[in-house]
Amino acid sequence: MKNFIENAHGRFGRYGGCFAPELLQPILNRVKEAFEKFKNTPKLQQEFDELLESFAGRPTPIYFAQNLSESLGGAQIWIKREDLLHGGAHKTNNVLGQALLAREMGAKFLIAETGAGQHGIATAMAGAKFKLPVKIFMGTKDIERQKVNVERMQLLGAEVVSVESGSKSLKDAINEAMRFWIAHSQETYYMFGTAAGPHPFPELVARFQKVIGVEAREQILKKVGRLPDEVLACVGGGSNAIGIFQAFLEDSSVKLVGVEPAGDGIKHGLTIGKGKYGCLHGSLSKVNCDEHGQIEESHSISAGLDYPGVSPLHAFLEEEMRAEYAGILDDEAVRAFLDFSKAEGIIPALESSHALAEAMKRASTYGTDKILLVNLSGRGDKDLHTIFDYCEKNGLR
Ligand SMILES: *Cc1c(COP(=O)(O)O)cnc(C)c1O
Repeated sequence: MKNFIENAHGRFGRYGGCFAPELLQPILNRVKEAFEKFKNTPKLQQEFDELLESFAGRPTPIYFAQNLSESLGGAQIWIKREDLLHGGAHKTNNVLGQALLAREMGAKFLIAETGAGQHGIATAMAGAKFKLPVKIFMGTKDIERQKVNVERMQLLGAEVVSVESGSKSLKDAINEAMRFWIAHSQETYYMFGTAAGPHPFPELVARFQKVIGVEAREQILKKVGRLPDEVLACVGGGSNAIGIFQAFLEDSSVKLVGVEPAGDGIKHGLTIGKGKYGCLHGSLSKVNCDEHGQIEESHSISAGLDYPGVSPLHAFLEEEMRAEYAGILDDEAVRAFLDFSKAEGIIPALESSHALAEAMKRASTYGTDKILLVNLSGRGDKDLHTIFDYCEKNGLR
């Protein structure tokens, strides 16, 4: 499949588009113009690459998880180390790119929503670097649950705005941030956290995460001498997955596998797997909703995957059968987290552990000549409490 993301004007088959309130159209047009300018200005792209290198620490390496692979006795599992990126996850790529756009647009401050706090912290980092004041919208429930992350954002100079409405969590924080954006659209840039939302955000976030796949493809060719058989990544909104998938779209021998959270088996976040065709946060994609179209809360032990929508890019890749999507239970993800930490001396993010769990399942059924490449989207230090609580409740470890 040719790379379908650029020049599709935000429509990917029956998915994508721009279904934002009319009041937001002028500002979305300005974001589009700034992004076009970025794409047509080599100097801006060099500045982005330079920031990725010296501020964020790119390129991140790939690594052969030899101990784990040998213990499974099957395929070779290789890891793309986004856990080593400044900030501890791939999110840094996206916020640096968007902060550049904000600066070019003359924005006076950045706003963003956050659930667990990871995107809030990344935005606060970029705000400090670009000297742009930051407001982070966060549900009161999440503020209580994520005290340390709130303190991190404040340390980086951001203001955390408490959202009292609705379920007091991520979905309402997004609504509140959108409301604020409409009221202050002239001077504000909205830092979108994943490859979803109205056009041009899916394309734009995919562009800023593309570096993951470009590096990984080159690195695996250099180290192994051939392309991997499968590339796996976890899917919340879908930004780290599209980041690595993009570079392999035209390699028809490479299977692309997105991994969604199957939660506890009853409540889940299988948006591609079980969602319906619908509209959420400004674009057409698959959505978890009831028969009346009301959004259903998703569930995952991993806060970063707990989003009821998904990128239209993934809905399209599934429909075109270029990528397949699997589900991993909370329990399987926790076990992969524990096993990988012990086997390799690397603590993976709970989000990334979903991709690892799927890779481990597949690896043991394949021969040792097969190569699986897993995007390790982040590190897991932030997840220790969640893991220990889960282990205690379920008699694990
Ligand atoms: C936020 C996050 C994710 C999920 O977001 P995507 O947009 O689906 O990539 C995955 N892994 C980590 C480590 C995260 O912080």
